[in-house]
Amino acid sequence: MNMDNHFSFSQSSLQSYLNCRHQFFLRYIQRLNWPSSLLDPWNPAEIERQAGIRFHRLAQNFFLGVPEEVIRTHAVNDDDSRMDVWVSNLINAFKSHIGSEASPEMTMTGKIGPFSATAKFDLLVIKAHEIHIYDWKTSRHAPKAGWLRRRVQTQLYPLLALRAYQQKTGNTVIPQINFTYWEASFPANPIIFSIGENDLRQSEEYLIDLMTEITHQPTDNFYKTTHQDRCAYCLYRTYCHRQLTDANNLELEQDMRFTDFELPDISAGK
Ligand code: SF4
Repeated sequence: MNMDNHFSFSQSSLQSYLNCRHQFFLRYIQRLNWPSSLLDPWNPAEIERQAGIRFHRLAQNFFLGVPEEVIRTHAVNDDDSRMDVWVSNLINAFKSHIGSEASPEMTMTGKIGPFSATAKFDLLVIKAHEIHIYDWKTSRHAPKAGWLRRRVQTQLYPLLALRAYQQKTGNTVIPQINFTYWEASFPANPIIFSIGENDLRQSEEYLIDLMTEITHQPTDNFYKTTHQDRCAYCLYRTYCHRQLTDANNLELEQDMRFTDFELPDISAGK
């Protein structure tokens, strides 16, 4: 497969390939927009996705220093009645994190072997000998730690956070790395992974193998998934003539969600 020379892998694109090679092909090689959300705005998965995007936007603005009252007002007036609670939980849990060490929605691009990869951290905190990665989630049910540990995001983000740390501090010694998945509905139960040198090495090997496989696939190998339950959550299903079916698999729904969305700044009145 001839990939664009400037292509940079992300956790969304890699997870997309693992979920359905055809979805990866439509989204990242053919670069098609998805029509499903427009055709079906009441799809529960789409409603969840949009609420998640709005929460991330409020979180970003909170860490950028938009006054708490403004953030809370946006949350109270949100269409989704959960937003007020999510935002209150976030403010209560992370108020002390605001400061020069904390970078919200920070994008980092770096090399993984010969490949370029990009991460967009919900919040990255870099200290002298520590890295803290935070990822916000808005799940209806708390996810299982084992499932999160296996996700591409958990493999990729610590590697790119380490690149950001080395750039910022100049340190070559590997620091303490903690990766926290924080659920807005379950603030007392964050899932925290402590990432060591061995984990980093294994993740790097895994990701290089995966990226090598993708870049060497012939075009006709980007076939449609045989797991049709995944199609229920896929924004590309109208291209595949696969219709919406009843679905209630929250982990699968999160796997199928693209997270590389843009977040406008509410402080600018957008
Ligand atoms: S609808 Fe199904 S087969 Fe088509 S791209 Fe999406 S997941 Fe793949």
